Amino acid sequence: MGLFAKKTEPDTQAVLTGPLPFDQIGTALAALAGAGESGAIEAVDALLVQAALHRASDVHLEPWDEGVSLRFRIDGLLHEVASLPVRHHARIAGRVKVLARMLTYQKDLPQDGRIDPEASGCGKAVRVSTFPTVNGEKLVLRILNPDPNLFDLDVLGFDADTTDALRGIVTRPQGAFLLTGPASSGKTTTIYAMIREILGRRGPSTHVVAIEDPVEYRLGRVSQSEVNSHAGFTYEAALRAALRQDPEVLVLGEIRDPETARTAIQAGLTGHLVISTIHSGTAAGVFTRLLDMGVEPYLAASSVVGVMAQRLYRRACPDCAETALPAPRERLRCGIADGAGTLRAVGCPACLGIGYRGRAALGEVLMVDEALEGLLLTRPRTQTVHDAALAAGMVPLFEQAARCVRARLTTPEELERLFPAPGAGTHREE
Ligand SMILES: [Zn+2]
Repeated sequence: MGLFAKKTEPDTQAVLTGPLPFDQIGTALAALAGAGESGAIEAVDALLVQAALHRASDVHLEPWDEGVSLRFRIDGLLHEVASLPVRHHARIAGRVKVLARMLTYQKDLPQDGRIDPEASGCGKAVRVSTFPTVNGEKLVLRILNPDPNLFDLDVLGFDADTTDALRGIVTRPQGAFLLTGPASSGKTTTIYAMIREILGRRGPSTHVVAIEDPVEYRLGRVSQSEVNSHAGFTYEAALRAALRQDPEVLVLGEIRDPETARTAIQAGLTGHLVISTIHSGTAAGVFTRLLDMGVEPYLAASSVVGVMAQRLYRRACPDCAETALPAPRERLRCGIADGAGTLRAVGCPACLGIGYRGRAALGEVLMVDEALEGLLLTRPRTQTVHDAALAAGMVPLFEQAARCVRARLTTPEELERLFPAPGAGTHREE
């Protein structure tokens, strides 16, 4: 064991058993990496264990002149953990590349690899990518969390109406349901939860085909396939092949070209439930995007049963959040009653001083009813669709976030981070 483990007698395994404060992680890793031949092996094990214990989704290792920056992405935000001595970088990077079965000598071209759960030391699979920078080789490690409990509509954090709407969608025999939202807004997790719900209700009598890029989690009883554009196995080609496979439910990672859009929307009219994501700012904007991609209005109107725009917000840490009176501007923005307090993030050992712990989802759901179907035939502008949806009861993302502030699940600052007020400038860093 390394120096760090030796000097704290009862805690020789501390770096492998419990989450350490950020400053101690840096000390422990530097001590391990500098200790003997097997030092790099133990350092990388400890690094991945600490990342997993801190619920980090990504680990960044980036060499600079003054040191190797180690950062964890936790609940969607990057946090600086430590600066490691530059002399350890080559050994740590080399060990990661061995585990990920990469070419260790290849440092001037990017590489992709994967570490199996058995080899990672933290029990989770890790996707590794390298990137040559002017300062040396940068590594990003994505920790894949296989916890099946994540894929449950009841634990994603949606409000009851949104959860009910999603449950209603999965009982439909046919139609298209489209999710939209920025990268890392939890769309894939929502889709996996919907698939689990479908399998739980209909069991083996349902054939689900999922086409993804890449497949991140293996789901039992689902025909999961990975696109391979270099070999011509594009989303469009995979979708056409999947339709010949007698599916009831088709899951498509993303609709990003006109051909795939038309085929997917058509499939929703011919006895398939199609679930996919599409790039658009809002739920209402999804229809404009479909029409821009050449989908006929009557097809979009009759095939799409609903769309949802999704975001994730960070929950205030229940162990340390304090109550404070919001600033007048925040009070107005979030619709908080005069004199009522809101939560303020503080920071404690349980949340590593971040003040937030865990994330929950917000969903702006737009269900297509008869009135909207008629409206869509007129090629309406996005704002017209949005207004019609609001009139029909859609709760926009911002209002959902404001409700979470009022319900003391999160802070006005977190709402501001997700939905910056016009003219408020860029958000502050924690
Ligand atoms: Zn806390």
